[in-house]
Amino acid sequence: MPSGSRYPLLFSPLDLGFTRLKNRALMGSMHTGLEDVPGGFERQAAFFAERARGGVGMIITGGIAPNREAGGGAKLSTPEEAAQHRIVTEAVHAADPEVKICMQILHTGPLAGTPECVAPSAVRSRIGRFTPNELDEAGIEKQLNDFANCAAMAKLAGYDGVEVIGSAGYLLSTFLVEKTNQRTDQWGGSFENRMRFPVEVMRRVREAVGPDFIVIFRIAAMDMLEGGMAWDEVVTLAKAVEAVGATIISTHFCWHEAQVPTIATMVPRAAFTQVTSRLRKALKVPLITSNRINMPDVAEAVLERGDADLVSMARPMLADPDLVVKALEGREDEINTCIACNQACLDHTFTGQLVSCLVNPRACRETELTYAPATQSRRIAVVGAGPAGLAYATVAAQRGHKVTLFDAGGEIGGQFNLARRIPGKEEFNETLRYYRRMIDKLGVDLRLNTQVTPDLLKGMGFDEVVVATGIEPRKPDLEGIDHPRVVGYIDAILGRRPIGKTVAIMGAGGIGFDVAELITHEGPSGATDIDVFAREWGIDFKNHPRGGVTGVKPQVATSGRDVILMQRKSDAVGRSLGRTTGWTHRLTLQRRGVRMLGGVEYVKIDDAGLHTRIGGEDKVFDVDTVIVCAGQLPLRSLYDELTAAGVKASLVGGAFEAMELDAKRAIDQASRLAAVA
Ligand code: FAD
Ligand code: NAP
Ligand code: SF4
Repeated sequence: MPSGSRYPLLFSPLDLGFTRLKNRALMGSMHTGLEDVPGGFERQAAFFAERARGGVGMIITGGIAPNREAGGGAKLSTPEEAAQHRIVTEAVHAADPEVKICMQILHTGPLAGTPECVAPSAVRSRIGRFTPNELDEAGIEKQLNDFANCAAMAKLAGYDGVEVIGSAGYLLSTFLVEKTNQRTDQWGGSFENRMRFPVEVMRRVREAVGPDFIVIFRIAAMDMLEGGMAWDEVVTLAKAVEAVGATIISTHFCWHEAQVPTIATMVPRAAFTQVTSRLRKALKVPLITSNRINMPDVAEAVLERGDADLVSMARPMLADPDLVVKALEGREDEINTCIACNQACLDHTFTGQLVSCLVNPRACRETELTYAPATQSRRIAVVGAGPAGLAYATVAAQRGHKVTLFDAGGEIGGQFNLARRIPGKEEFNETLRYYRRMIDKLGVDLRLNTQVTPDLLKGMGFDEVVVATGIEPRKPDLEGIDHPRVVGYIDAILGRRPIGKTVAIMGAGGIGFDVAELITHEGPSGATDIDVFAREWGIDFKNHPRGGVTGVKPQVATSGRDVILMQRKSDAVGRSLGRTTGWTHRLTLQRRGVRMLGGVEYVKIDDAGLHTRIGGEDKVFDVDTVIVCAGQLPLRSLYDELTAAGVKASLVGGAFEAMELDAKRAIDQASRLAAVA
């Protein structure tokens, strides 16, 4: 099959008149944190150049502020600062002269996180740290000039264009919505007045950079706000922005404060492109669409439907820098797919950590974590094919070691085989598909259904043994823990034991929440059915009321089970969940009627039920089933036996440390060890 022919639209060039994009695959903007660290320009250069070599047509950088009040991160407003960016633009153009790189201009407005933050009106965002300062006429003029100056500096720095973000609850978008723009002058009131600022920004940016420079406007095509923008306002704004010189319009689908998930793993693939499609019909300029487009066939289908002209993939390019070239060469089964977990990317951004990727720990670590060929090839036994063992085995094999990977189970994956059964976590299957392919491609000798003992390894001639045997569930030391109504989470997830109509879940960590999701779930998963997803989150894609959500009540189906999720801590239940996704799990379960209880002391379990003490009072929960999700302990018996027998072995993943273990840490630790093996 000729290269790329499975995706003819994705690999067709796009003529922009003064320039041309080599294909329709775009790496969308993501703040990685590299913008703000020492040596960040060199690290960004390596990060983006790797993606340019990976075949993407255009790259949009993370957001850069036009002035100090726009946000605390990197700023571009002087020729000296522009000179620092040259290393990035030159690295990308050297990697592939056909690849375009545009810089995003980000003015976070009321979300800037400093007392100097500014906005059209002094309205504090639900997620903002400060009440913004209302801009006066001179302040507005300054912001307009700073945008134009920033764009001119980006051109000086060698970028091929800029993207102006006009969505997400950042400065430009706060002018558009009545809730955040309460002005009565020419910048507020009617929609014509409210859109004056963003349109004027775009007019001045175009004026500053001249005609032969890409200028993209990112619009909130559906802002997901009660009382947000009406559809005719979205179209009016897009047309006005087009008229003042936007080369491309990029559709975005929410404000950060909106209570609708738009990129988490529970969102169906390409769920929002239908909104871009509607806008595309009203405009002449090319449209970019985005959100949960993580594989080339999804991108091609979006283009085939005519939903957009370009497809943006931001997180998928963290997960696999070579996504596009693998699609081009017909190697899509080798793509390390973004599973939309947010654990190492957005959760890091919102907790002030450098971004990376759960499935690819090299993301944003390109200069420090390399998988160079080993100086001497050795025979390595890896015991356990969970995320840690899989990562170790494949990185070591890629470096030239001869690896044998053992697992006691009949399939690879370890606990990922439990995770992938949870509705909303279907994407975890992709990680297992990737590892299966890599094991095959790299010639890892896979031995399934093999319980490893020191005796089994004897005489096999391994130079090194890596123990990745994972964890065992913690069994609380509690009277009645072996009572027939008690079920462990593994049996509950695998359906090996019946679960009654009334259930108490002991332990409200990630697994407690996942089990509650599984046993209260009814019908198809919203992650694979757009209509179910829309109903669950109160989105009206078809009629697009104000914000896409105004007046639409979420409707969540439930299995009808009466479930109580408990923990001993008195903190809010679910506090340990991911920063950017935890709220979606809490809200879903609350809507299904799951009760959440903190500060619970477990006393015993007997025929009367689960006996507890809460706030000094005894309380018995007469439930049919008690599911134990009380954390985990490292499974180290093999390691102990090996070391006792004098065999040198190393530990990775849950076997090394079970406390607060997740797949992000397991894969990262294993990859780093294998990188120096
Ligand atoms: P494991 O995955 O436990 O793998 C260990 C493997 O070793 C197993 O396959 C086992 O069969 C094998 N083994 C053990 N002893 C032997 C032996 N003697 N011989 C041969 N083989 C042996 N993490 C996240 O980051 N994000 C999530 O969203 C997430 N969701 C989860 C949902 C659920 C329901 C569960 C249960 C876990 C979830 N996790 C999640 C946690 C994640 O799966 C674990 O952190 C990760 O699997 C740990 O990897 P590991 O390789 O150390 O161990
Ligand atoms: P966890 O998040 O550490 O939660 C363990 C739960 O058990 C806590 O609620 C804890 O709270 C309780 N507990 C601990 N010791 C107990 C005891 N002796 N008796 C009774 N209760 C006890 O671990 P997990 O839920 O097992 O998840 C394992 C790992 O997988 C986690 O680190 C998590 O990050 C990861 N994971 C992530 C996700 C995700 O969506 N990101 C989903 C699933 C799993 P109290 O001590 O207050 O009772
Ligand atoms: Fe995707 Fe998760 Fe990696 Fe983020 S951390 S890029 S969501 S796989």
